[in-house]
Amino acid sequence: MDELDLSFNTEPICPHCGSEFNISENEAWHLYNEDGDVKYIECPDCEKSFFVQPNISYTFSTDKKNIF
Ligand SMILES: [Zn+2]
Repeated sequence: MDELDLSFNTEPICPHCGSEFNISENEAWHLYNEDGDVKYIECPDCEKSFFVQPNISYTFSTDKKNIF
């Protein structure tokens, strides 16, 4: 198996089988937590558990006028 890219993915990747863990399909909304706590989830494909570290990043938008 090729080396898995487990960091900074839009969906968590199972480190056991390489499956993408679909957050909306699995209704795993608790992974979107602002405190950045590590979560322990089970892969629906291989049924093994693994840890997920949410990476929180901020971006900023600006404009001369207040259009927001
Ligand atoms: Zn898996």
